Amino acid sequence: MLPSYLFVAFILIITSLQIYLANRQIKHIFVNYLSVPAEFSQHTNLAQHQKSSKYNVAKLKMNIAEYITETAVLVFFTLLGGLQFIDTYLSNNIQNEYLYAISLFACVFGISSIIGLPFAYIKQFKIEQKFGFNNMTIGLFISDSIKQIILSAVLLLPLLSLALMLFKQHYGWLYVWGIWIGFNILMLMIYPKYLAPIFNKFTQLDKNKYHDLILRINTLFNSANFQLTDILVMDGSKRSSHGNAYFTGFGKSKRIVFFDTLLNNINENQTLAILAHELGHLAHKHILKRLISSFGLSFIFFYAIHLLYDYFPFYQFMGAIPHLFGITSIHSNYPLLLVLLLLIMPYISFIFTPIASLSSRKHEFEADRFAVKNTNAQDLTSALISLYNDNASMFTNDDLYAKFYYSHPPASERIKAINLSAVNI
Ligand SMILES: [Zn+2]
Repeated sequence: MLPSYLFVAFILIITSLQIYLANRQIKHIFVNYLSVPAEFSQHTNLAQHQKSSKYNVAKLKMNIAEYITETAVLVFFTLLGGLQFIDTYLSNNIQNEYLYAISLFACVFGISSIIGLPFAYIKQFKIEQKFGFNNMTIGLFISDSIKQIILSAVLLLPLLSLALMLFKQHYGWLYVWGIWIGFNILMLMIYPKYLAPIFNKFTQLDKNKYHDLILRINTLFNSANFQLTDILVMDGSKRSSHGNAYFTGFGKSKRIVFFDTLLNNINENQTLAILAHELGHLAHKHILKRLISSFGLSFIFFYAIHLLYDYFPFYQFMGAIPHLFGITSIHSNYPLLLVLLLLIMPYISFIFTPIASLSSRKHEFEADRFAVKNTNAQDLTSALISLYNDNASMFTNDDLYAKFYYSHPPASERIKAINLSAVNI
């Protein structure tokens, strides 16, 4: 049997690694605080650099507090018997298996979310506010939270009930995996068009204001042999002054979205360069590739459910007592096992973060190359620098920290690669 202290050792090692990496980045920021790194002296000034430094250190310290709290919550649920207590209480008092499962999920993840709430609040109303990025009101914060809870309940609870029904069939885990794939594809099709508008307003790029830009966008799409995708502007300024742009959707819901905050801060050439970068993601089928790898990972997850279902040492390893169906409980172990796996998942996925980051950075390089080919390197570089300054992102990072976490290449690497691809065209 795997003793529980191995589980404690595992989560403590992961948490220490998270804290170690964050501290490396904090140290790096302190070391570079007094002067702008020479490489970027033309792109930013000392005041901006020091503002970014303070902002990023504040966020990193908050992350550390969050890692420690999350681990404490996990220890409470597992080794201190919190989950066991809730599970015993619910399974003894609720006859209906679906109702029992839903209550178990609601209790465990409800408690975790409530504990996470002060962190979300401090991030938005203390840190973002202090550095001038917050545009959110408390009212919007509350209504966002309520909408998110309702939306997850409406989408996920029927899925959970269906999964519990299917798991009991022969090869049930494979059916559930199939359903999960279908659900994700459906979400990618309907989320951008029907669900994202619950939170934000999306409008077409203003035809009068951006008349020339729209003509140039049409030319860009034609020369890259693309059918024109919807280009929308999102009212990101409702919540924050951070700017961004992204590409999303599948089939007819494919779209490129600009935050209004970004559009206001960059010129037409830069907008076109960023748009070309987003188009690069489309040209290289990055959404599809990401989707396929996530299906591979979810296959492993559902197969693990199949394998671990009656492997009782796993439950004990995480400090829970499995139901002996028909003897200690009228309910199956699926709900309990799912909760245990979802609780430990962030710790397991942490180990694979560098691989996911590496693959994402590879995609960013590809999209940049596409943008350079179809627009030009100077515009893309200056747009990126403007994004870095507006978002108070660090121009310089601890190497290991960046390699581990960064989904986008660090500024220096990225600009070097952009210049290199400009030479090679
Ligand atoms: Zn990108």
